[in-house]
Amino acid sequence: MSLHKNIQEVLTPDQVIELLKKGNERFVNDDLRNVKTHHVLELTKEAQYPLAAILACMDSRVPVERIFDKTIGELFSFRSPGNVVNQDIIGGMEYAAKVAGTKLFVVMGHTGCGAVNAAVKGIKLGNLTYSLDKIKPAIERTKNITPKTIDNINYINAVIDNNTLTSIETIRKESEILRNMEENGDIKIVAAMYNIATGRVSFH
Ligand SMILES: [Zn+2]
Repeated sequence: MSLHKNIQEVLTPDQVIELLKKGNERFVNDDLRNVKTHHVLELTKEAQYPLAAILACMDSRVPVERIFDKTIGELFSFRSPGNVVNQDIIGGMEYAAKVAGTKLFVVMGHTGCGAVNAAVKGIKLGNLTYSLDKIKPAIERTKNITPKTIDNINYINAVIDNNTLTSIETIRKESEILRNMEENGDIKIVAAMYNIATGRVSFH
């Protein structure tokens, strides 16, 4: 994808989305690239030029690099319960955009998200409660689908979608750096959904 600065520089955010789609297609088709570890280590040991930064859920079924058929040096990967954001993650994204030259930022939800289910059920569990509270705005904005239960897949998937949008809005609101870069067309922040049954990623 891109281990080189000149490739990172010329590609637009939309072209990076296309590369991620192609990588996901290889993943779905069980046709992953055969990347030699030591070769990539050699190429990346001096510097990194990742094309995309992905914020995904911590779920063990959402291995970000593998889903997009990417290796060392190709992606920034942020993970949290229910792909919620915090100041540390936003700060990392600012570094990715401003210092490392990354142009595409993806907030990726996934089907069967336990964090979203737990938030809908109103579960409280130690420090996790703090993360689940951040999913509440997504629940509140999912008004038109009933019944509002975890058994209703349409409802839960809508909450998961809305939760990625909530995270994107928070990123834009909290980060002047990313907001300005997006307004200038230097970067793009998009939502996506990963289907844990099919392996497919759909970009919104
Ligand atoms: Zn999840």
